[in-house]
Amino acid sequence: MMGGTGNNNSRFSMLVKCPKCNAECHEEDSQTYECPKCGHQEPTDYGKVRTFLDENGNATAMEIARATGVPIGKIHSFLRNGRLEIPEDSDTYIECKRCGTDIRYGKYCPECANILKKELQDAFDLGTVGAVPKHNTGKMQFLNRDTRNQYTYDNISSYYKL
Ligand SMILES: [Zn+2]
Ligand SMILES: [Zn+2]
Repeated sequence: MMGGTGNNNSRFSMLVKCPKCNAECHEEDSQTYECPKCGHQEPTDYGKVRTFLDENGNATAMEIARATGVPIGKIHSFLRNGRLEIPEDSDTYIECKRCGTDIRYGKYCPECANILKKELQDAFDLGTVGAVPKHNTGKMQFLNRDTRNQYTYDNISSYYKL
């Protein structure tokens, strides 16, 4: 689904204009934002969704989008960020980004999250992290066979701190 809802705000922008004085307000990661110029308070998209759910109980993403005017993509991002969750008795869920299994909120199912966590840990294992040379000349000296052959074992070992 493309196209705007009639306002000029970019769909993914968190910057909103104050309806009272048109000053630029930064939408905070909360349910209300306050205009820095006139103090006008306005519910954020997240605030609108929360209020709607508080007043109406569980609803589908489509129902929420229709009732609040919040783009469905944004509602999805609230789910992905774990700020909203799909109730246990729902017919539809979002998918784990790795294996596609149903999840109620977030990005990954617990199983994939554990695997990814382990992969990350392995990647940051000290032994696998290489040091970046301080004076990088851009030359790959050790890949140049001609040069490499000129080194004796002693010379080469002097390049390693063991
Ligand atoms: Zn204002
Ligand atoms: Zn998964």
